[in-house]
Amino acid sequence: MSKLVPTRIELARPLPPLTYLAPEGLPAGLRVRVKLRTGAVVGVVLGPDPAPPNVKLRPIDAVVDPFPLLPPKLRDLLAFAGGYYACGLPHLMALCLPSGVQVDWETVLPDGQRLAELRDANEWSRLEALGEAWHVGELPLPGLFHRRSLRGAGVTQVRRTELPHPLRVTATQAKVLKALEGSEGVLLEDDLLEVAQVSVSVLSTLEKNGLIERVRRLDLLSQKREESANKQIILNEEQQRALTAVDPSGFGVYLLFGVTGSGKTEVYIDLAEKVLAQGRRVLWLVPEIGLTPRLLARLEGRFPGKVAVGHAGLNITEKQADVMRLLNDEAPIFVGVRNAVLAPLRNVGLIIVDEEQESSYKSEEHPRIHARDLAIKRGQLEGCPVVLGSATPSLESWHAARNGRYRLLKLTQRPAGSVMPTVKVVDLRECYKTERKKVTFSPLLLKALKETLEKGQQAMLLLNRRGFENFWMCRACGKPLDCPHCSISLTYHKGSYRLRCHLCGFESTPPEVCPACGAEHLRGVGEGTEQIEDQLQAQFPRARILRLDRDTTQRRGSLEAGLLAAEKGEVDILVGTQMLAKGHTFPKLTLVGILNADLGLKVADFRAAERTFHLLTQVAGRAGRAELSGHVILQTYSPDHPAIIHAVAQNFEAFAEEELPYRQGMAYPPFASMSLYRSEGETPEDALKHLQDLKVKLQTISDLRILGPLEAPVARVKDRYRMQLILKAWTRGPLGEALRVAPMAPGGAVTLDRDPLNFGA
Ligand code: ADP
Ligand code: ZN
Repeated sequence: MSKLVPTRIELARPLPPLTYLAPEGLPAGLRVRVKLRTGAVVGVVLGPDPAPPNVKLRPIDAVVDPFPLLPPKLRDLLAFAGGYYACGLPHLMALCLPSGVQVDWETVLPDGQRLAELRDANEWSRLEALGEAWHVGELPLPGLFHRRSLRGAGVTQVRRTELPHPLRVTATQAKVLKALEGSEGVLLEDDLLEVAQVSVSVLSTLEKNGLIERVRRLDLLSQKREESANKQIILNEEQQRALTAVDPSGFGVYLLFGVTGSGKTEVYIDLAEKVLAQGRRVLWLVPEIGLTPRLLARLEGRFPGKVAVGHAGLNITEKQADVMRLLNDEAPIFVGVRNAVLAPLRNVGLIIVDEEQESSYKSEEHPRIHARDLAIKRGQLEGCPVVLGSATPSLESWHAARNGRYRLLKLTQRPAGSVMPTVKVVDLRECYKTERKKVTFSPLLLKALKETLEKGQQAMLLLNRRGFENFWMCRACGKPLDCPHCSISLTYHKGSYRLRCHLCGFESTPPEVCPACGAEHLRGVGEGTEQIEDQLQAQFPRARILRLDRDTTQRRGSLEAGLLAAEKGEVDILVGTQMLAKGHTFPKLTLVGILNADLGLKVADFRAAERTFHLLTQVAGRAGRAELSGHVILQTYSPDHPAIIHAVAQNFEAFAEEELPYRQGMAYPPFASMSLYRSEGETPEDALKHLQDLKVKLQTISDLRILGPLEAPVARVKDRYRMQLILKAWTRGPLGEALRVAPMAPGGAVTLDRDPLNFGA
């Protein structure tokens, strides 16, 4: 028996590591269960504590894993990310190893010993060696995880339907409904049967009565398999060149630059095939899985049974099932959103980051990782190529490709032969002059809408602002109606007759009179998508209009359902926010109207022009992707702005040429690196104090520019005052140095956002 020694354990809580007594020799990275005053929690072993605190130490409750379950290279990646983003290991591990992934200690080893016996004999180094052998495939442990029935692509999901709970159900049926209610209405069938302890026939009865529905997971993923499965595609010369340029034998970053429809996905697929043939795995990142059923259908068609999918919207059991499939080496292709960059895939031979410019790759909550950046780091650790693809690359990636750090691969044509849409600009200032009032739909746009509808084709209208009216203000005193808890105005939602705060969710019924001066002159300013929908319906009473924005797509699956309806031609006009910009192809979509191209330009953010350019080019690219040619009408008050000029010409390279010197002149990324420190407090002074203290410490670092502390752009949210401090440096070195000089305190008042994308909130 070996003894218990003081061991440092880090918890997924805003706390520094704590010291517990644990068996000697536990390897770092192992999960253990410990008690906190608030209950049992899972922590991760950091190692022995050489200088334990002089108090009575508690023993840990249990060791969860026999050996570290994450593949060694992924552990290296987490260690890097922990240091870079200043966050603890358990927080990162929670992103890739769901707590429900549990090892069966009764698993029998080839020599007949059970894992539990080795545990009880404290043979930790022996277990660790077994784990390493398991990771490299030398020691198959097929029964390692509990609940093996979860595995396999064909799992069935059971969902509660909308039907109200009936008055009379049998006791067994009640068990099922209760189990579903306890897990947000969805469970995998095997889980459900286990939790409710009922037989399958009970499910069948409930299904017949319409109280539940059963969906095969595979069907969820590929609603449209037929069309894509067996299409034989011969890569054109450019695609072929791109394919051969990627060297699968080592690390390298490639930027595959080509307009939407230029055949990037076909290149990824052929690359994936090469890599699979070598027995290595493929990690495939997409910005948003709900928007890519087509991709999944294509992949399933090409690699049947080999694709696993990670999805931010999947519930916890589904995530567990996916992770176990990966750990059991059952799916060589893993497609997923942001956190999938940390998926426990072994022997990775290719990493694809599609639409690499998308901001959804950056997490806006702790840990604030950037999946594209970590993908590159992972490629380096795994020794494999990383392919970034985009029609409008981020300036970071473009700059790296231009100066030779990444290899640039261009696709310039659309193989399907469809042409780029034509773009017409409407100057809203001129419209205002002739109409003598603010114009929402210019005559040109109205005419085009009418013609499109008459031809039985589809139109899409973009306005990047939801709600009915942007805000209400008092005509008498000029004051806007602000959120009582945040320093932004409330947005009017007509459907629910509410004024709502888009930051904290505060809602109220619109007041009759101005709360500030009592006058009855309240008035809405600045229309949102909800109002556009109303106005359109008045103009085109017979048109089938579908609005897609955050308000209409809150229910899980409703965005997908709406997009599918539009694809099938059941919608004449789609109205929405930037959600419309991504993914889908609508065969009958020939007109895209951009109602106010300038909305994104007015925010105080050095990336405003880049974001506007991306959004406009992407939406424009939606028009006429199939056989029908399309056109775009872009309404703007600033037709001379570079972002607009180049978006109209759909010329990314020209945009980049113009934008990069500005970034360099102002010492912004991609030329410089930034860190954003935020603090919050009960009072502005509280918030300020923390950052002032930090600034004093950082002033010793050379080649570091410190801006602030200043009020955050939104200076108050949920009654907390917010300040920020920005660090800038030409290289990343001084920013890393800042973390050494002033380490982040877990749970402290200051939070760090490295390589921030969002300065607004
Ligand atoms: P991207 O990923 O750049 O948007 P895709 O790979 O999805 O482009 O290609 C767009 C369409 O063109 C798809 O339907 C695809 O099957 C088709 N396509 C791509 N490459 C070829 C090719 N070489 N020959 C014929 N069709 C192609
Ligand atoms: Zn608010």
